[in-house]
Amino acid sequence: KAAVHFAKQVSKGSYQIYNPGISRRLKNQLELEMDLRHALSRGELAMYYQPQVDLSSGTLVGTEALMRWVHPQRGVISPGVFIPLAEEIGVIEEIGEWALKTACRQTRLWNEKGLLFHVSVNLSPKQIFQDNLVDMVRSVLKQTGLAAKFLQLEITETADADLIMMSKKLSEIRDLGIGISIDDFGTGYNSMNYLKSLPLTQLKIDQSFIRKDYYNSHNMALIRTFVDLADELDLEVVAEGVETGEHVRFLKTVKCDLAQGYLFGRPLSAANLLGQLPIISKQINQ
Ligand code: C2E
Ligand code: MG
Ligand code: MG
Ligand code: MG
Repeated sequence: KAAVHFAKQVSKGSYQIYNPGISRRLKNQLELEMDLRHALSRGELAMYYQPQVDLSSGTLVGTEALMRWVHPQRGVISPGVFIPLAEEIGVIEEIGEWALKTACRQTRLWNEKGLLFHVSVNLSPKQIFQDNLVDMVRSVLKQTGLAAKFLQLEITETADADLIMMSKKLSEIRDLGIGISIDDFGTGYNSMNYLKSLPLTQLKIDQSFIRKDYYNSHNMALIRTFVDLADELDLEVVAEGVETGEHVRFLKTVKCDLAQGYLFGRPLSAANLLGQLPIISKQINQ
């Protein structure tokens, strides 16, 4: 444990607390922030794609686009770390636009090759507050030539959500022909209000119900309930965190539409995904 000691008197009667542990972390954080401000212009961001499989037909139908930051000194930094940071320092709009454009351009290229993949792109809650979100999305589709029906935007729950405003914006996006998915379903505290208020097309069951370490009869009952709920509401349903053949057999029994997880493939660069297609197909149809 870091010892806290009173380092110096800054003004009469007030002391600055000096903690070497905290200051190291702060320095680290500040460096990371500075680097992140330049990551986009320095070409350090990369897009990876994780396969999504249709369980009834056993085919690869699309991917989820997942961003990576390839830091020149620190190596690959996970979006779990840098997305919250990007939100904090106010660069999420730029980074989010880059992510959308990159994913749409790549998916359009696949479509042109006859691979009719759709793509799911994560949207930060901060981007939904962005004034020009709808125009930005419309212009990305126009620039990249991707047909709207091949795009889905994934949203997550937040504490400070204004569901009326969100519903209005997301409806405009729906009107363009784009799908809206609720990500990490089952982990929030306001899920039912989201289902009630937003123009959703897809429900993604959070991986914490499915992954190996969590998979048990209790969670299976919850998964079955979420699949039925999605069905009643006419939403497509996706299971995240699919890691084993047993998961697949169970998800097929409960008639879950799509599956995504390490069993079929980890997130890969576009080139690697293409190279892995034969292996992924074998994994799906075994
Ligand atoms: P998410 O959207 O829920 O993405 C799924 C995460 O689960 C990914 O982590 C993926 O690599 C991981 N995953 C997929 N299958 C499995 C599995 O079978 N087992 C295990 N253990 N994990 C699995 P990743 O890529 O680290 O992304 C973390 C989160 O960062 C994402 O969660 C998403 O919320 C956010 N994110 C990623 N890319 C973007 C982006 O472009 N924009 C925004 N706003 N957020 C992003
Ligand atoms: Mg997602
Ligand atoms: Mg998720
Ligand atoms: Mg259904």
